[in-house]
Amino acid sequence: MKQLLFAIVLLFFHSFTFAQVPYGDLENYKREWVALQGNAGPLVGIRSFTAKGSKYYLTVDPLTLETRIVDSKLLKVHSKDSIQVNKSLNGTVYASCFSIVRKTENNLQDAGLNFRLPKESGINLTIDLCPSHKPLDKDIFEDLLSAFKGLDSTLPLAVSVSGKWLLNHPDDLAWLKSLDRKGVKITWINHTYDHVFNKKPLVSNFLLSPGTDLNYEILANEKLMLRNGLVPSVFFRCPGLVSDRAVIEKLLSYGLIAVGSDAWLAKGQQAHNGSIVLIHGNGNEELGVRDFIRLLQTESGAIKRKHWTLYSLSEGLEHYPN
Ligand SMILES: [Zn+2]
Repeated sequence: MKQLLFAIVLLFFHSFTFAQVPYGDLENYKREWVALQGNAGPLVGIRSFTAKGSKYYLTVDPLTLETRIVDSKLLKVHSKDSIQVNKSLNGTVYASCFSIVRKTENNLQDAGLNFRLPKESGINLTIDLCPSHKPLDKDIFEDLLSAFKGLDSTLPLAVSVSGKWLLNHPDDLAWLKSLDRKGVKITWINHTYDHVFNKKPLVSNFLLSPGTDLNYEILANEKLMLRNGLVPSVFFRCPGLVSDRAVIEKLLSYGLIAVGSDAWLAKGQQAHNGSIVLIHGNGNEELGVRDFIRLLQTESGAIKRKHWTLYSLSEGLEHYPN
């Protein structure tokens, strides 16, 4: 009997520790660029950290761009030499994303992935959560769920989250995470920690504001995301979509792919098939949200016929010209 009790207690503790987010108290968070071998194939380690005495990597699958946190004990380090790591990526989707991003890296606005191939019938939805005192605009998600109700499809979309929004909206975050159970699959995009904004022209605004520490903006927000149970994706959204070559190159050195938009709805840009649509879900962009809901209504027939859908940002990149 004693033994049985012991076994039950052990089982309880095992499931308890398993269920906990292992990186809630992460330390030593830093940039890496390591070629790794995982159980299912080659991976790239872009960050490492320690938690509860174990070392973890934030990994990217170079073929699917999926990011995951993996215990270093489950990985074999192939190379830490950046030239070798880059070589190992030849011919992968990840490497072609680097080329695509470099084509527009001198843009002041909208550098990076900023259009998709029009063969897709539907859109890539990105929702930005810049710092705001207003509550999350839940209508976006509720209307999406009702438009796709009964179609038994998963709904991939991307949410770009700033640190200052995360800190002020714990309930909204919990609500967003709970949508997973309803089939909403969120790609979490780093939208910087501070999301600096001033009244100056774009050349000295957002990430181009004098004194901006991009290393901090990237890493502090990723740490906050991980502590809140969000796995940062390989994508990055520059505040205001503003950047210069130095910013884009720095992001690439962190393994991050900037994502622009060809359809910022509140600015009057129309969504086409394959568009990367941008709306703000932080309560500050009624116009964009209204335009998006109108778009859903316009496409409602096509949605029901399964001729219009949402795409994940990682899908179809192998067909992108680079
Ligand atoms: Zn923003």
